Amino acid sequence: MTIGETVTIDRTGLDRLVDVLGEHGYRVIGPQVRDGAIILDELDSGAALPDGWGVRTEPGRYRLYRRDDEAVFSHSAGPGSWKEFLQPPHRKLAQLDADLNSEAVQEIPVPTAFLGVRGCDLAAIAVLGRVLGGVDTAFAARSKELFIIAVNCTEPGGVCFCASMGTGPGVSSGYDLALTERLDDTGHRFLVDAGTDAGTRIIAELVTEPASDAEISAARTDVAAAAGRMGRSMPDVDVREVIRRSRESPHWEDVASRCFACANCTMVCPTCFCTTTEDVTDLTGAHAERWERWASCFELDFSYLHGGSVRQSGESRYRQWLSHKLGTWYDQFGSSGCVGCGRCIAWCPAGIDLTVELARLAELAEAGDDDHR
Ligand code: SF4
Ligand code: SF4
Repeated sequence: MTIGETVTIDRTGLDRLVDVLGEHGYRVIGPQVRDGAIILDELDSGAALPDGWGVRTEPGRYRLYRRDDEAVFSHSAGPGSWKEFLQPPHRKLAQLDADLNSEAVQEIPVPTAFLGVRGCDLAAIAVLGRVLGGVDTAFAARSKELFIIAVNCTEPGGVCFCASMGTGPGVSSGYDLALTERLDDTGHRFLVDAGTDAGTRIIAELVTEPASDAEISAARTDVAAAAGRMGRSMPDVDVREVIRRSRESPHWEDVASRCFACANCTMVCPTCFCTTTEDVTDLTGAHAERWERWASCFELDFSYLHGGSVRQSGESRYRQWLSHKLGTWYDQFGSSGCVGCGRCIAWCPAGIDLTVELARLAELAEAGDDDHR
């Protein structure tokens, strides 16, 4: 197989892919069912993949259901994202003993394969790379050891809007292998495209069949059709301009009246990257450790400067989150901070939906302009 060629593997071939990656020294991370959700974790074998599970999502709601087929990748994003493995939620940075001997923790990155990365999440990994790649050496080292098996999405969820963010449902680059799952009367199979030489070397160890032109064309049609079945879309407005004009909008107060400032949205978001450090000691005082953990702009401490927090109200914290994600992120990192995965909508206990909030901000900004005409 060469880069740009398409072959097919069957369901057994997918199991074999997991095994071959393991034989090449990769820790394989992929989707699996746990605690009523599809989460991402280490796969011992392809048998742990979520065959036959689907997901129904809406604002503030996420439910698994049994499908009437054995599709492996027909579920939209769960609560976890690949950032858990690229920037772990909690990690020790250094330790210090009572004699002031200190030691930085040296992490040796494990070669890791991500199996089942959708277009939105591929874009999120690229966003994290732009944000952290040049400044966080541990992140850069983990990213260097990555092997990515992307999946073209043919089954978007109720809160997905990647098509309107230009990040999905298809994948076009940034992967070693890309799969498109097909299930019909002729069987269960996966079209495989290689994006890198590393990808072609792995596929060479599997039993494959050439993909016919008709099969490739049908798969493309399925992915294109998925773009029209997204549960929602980002409003078709100049989002940065709406954010810029909404600084004093009364709508922030309206959102704050519903928002619990629980930080769920930032925890599940695949691009939110903020961390803080904490120092802890044991009870004897003989040993101290410095830990890094994920932080959130919804925490009061997050904007603590000397004397107090500069964002005391829920209103100012939600505004900060949305304004950064959809506005100033472009100025800092050259793209939107949102990839349209919908996680923050499904996992918000108040069902707050950033696409709806943005639409309302746009309406109010427009109405404000009319008042001044
Ligand atoms: S928007 Fe929703 S998820 Fe985010 S902090 Fe508010 S209540 Fe929590
Ligand atoms: S802001 Fe919400 S929809 Fe956008 S990338 Fe983050 S979790 Fe996904």
